[in-house]
Amino acid sequence: TIELSKRVQLIQPSPTLAVAAKAKELKAQGRDIVGLGTGEPDFDTPDHIKQAAIAAINEGATKYTAVDGTPELKEAVINKFKRDNGLSYEPNQILVSSGGKQSFYNLCQALLNPGDEVIIPAPYWVSYPDMTLLAEAQPVIIKTTIEQHLKITPEQLKEAITEHTRLFVINSPSNPTGVAYSKDELKALGEVLKEHPEIVIATDDMYEHILWEEGSFTNILNACPELYDRTIVLNGVSKAYSMTGWRIGYAGGPANLIAAMKKIQSQSTSNPAAPSQAAATEALNGDQSCIKPMLEAFKKRHDYLLKELNAIDGITCLPSDGTFYAFPNVQGLIDKHGCESDLDLAELLIEKVDLALVPGSAFGAPGHMRLSYAASMETLEKAIERLKKVAN
Ligand code: PLP
Repeated sequence: TIELSKRVQLIQPSPTLAVAAKAKELKAQGRDIVGLGTGEPDFDTPDHIKQAAIAAINEGATKYTAVDGTPELKEAVINKFKRDNGLSYEPNQILVSSGGKQSFYNLCQALLNPGDEVIIPAPYWVSYPDMTLLAEAQPVIIKTTIEQHLKITPEQLKEAITEHTRLFVINSPSNPTGVAYSKDELKALGEVLKEHPEIVIATDDMYEHILWEEGSFTNILNACPELYDRTIVLNGVSKAYSMTGWRIGYAGGPANLIAAMKKIQSQSTSNPAAPSQAAATEALNGDQSCIKPMLEAFKKRHDYLLKELNAIDGITCLPSDGTFYAFPNVQGLIDKHGCESDLDLAELLIEKVDLALVPGSAFGAPGHMRLSYAASMETLEKAIERLKKVAN
């Protein structure tokens, strides 16, 4: 066998993708697996967006574009930030990448040095710690409890900051918890950060549009505009427009940081796919009413799951503010079955009742399970039936 880099040995393959792969494999063996593992809307990309890509291909969008995105898409991003978030950016403050995942990767590579610390509230999106490690920096995880609604407090943030802190990451509404920080809560966190001008702030707004309460989205820059010069806003079209396969994410932030991220991208992947950029331009500029039916479906499924999960012995679930994830505490079920951890319980669920969920440990929150309800009601009903079998 080939000896591999130390770097690659620091990280794990994405556990959410691993659960999806395992579910697929067992399905192929003929097992009737219900999989609630993937973080992918189950809707098709809206037709007007697909048509824009087809037209663009026919008109020659088949070549390299500018590394940081076409002028049309960058303008659409600038208009979107203005319209939806009240944030102003110049074109040299915008970078379009191949998915939100690449945006965060570029950020870590452009910003972090060995020994730097990145503060990450748990439960977290699985990629934050591993991309931090790939940049040879150290994740510093802040743990939260269900009593604090799985959100960090300003006191916890203050305690986590050291002279090595370089980056603070906040994702609201959150994958995997579905909870969002209020403007007041963000302001209180911002007050702590104001005392530490050397810390860069990344707000991952990927689930901005998947929020039950209309017009309720707010990020840390809205709450604390003073942080503008050292905050990078990460977003993308994957979740809001059901465009996971198109691979378009974007970032807005300080010009020199964006330029450094662009340099990393220019020596790795270059521009995101040209037809996808045309599709994303239409998604951001076009009719926004395509979001609403998806949002309504997610809300209906959320309400169903919340009620059913909380009725099961050994499971406690917080209501979500948005996204398409439920993140119940399942410690009662873990204990009941004499499992060591949520990882064991996930194995038991797949072996005994053909139910594939992602264990909370993957998100830095043992004792929990993530259920993605980007799945039909029929699938969710089956999942609940199977969970009940294990609980009784
Ligand atoms: N940020 C969060 C919080 C996510 O949940 C995801 C996807 O799961 C991403 C970023 C990246 O999205 P993508 O790379 O598919 O655009």
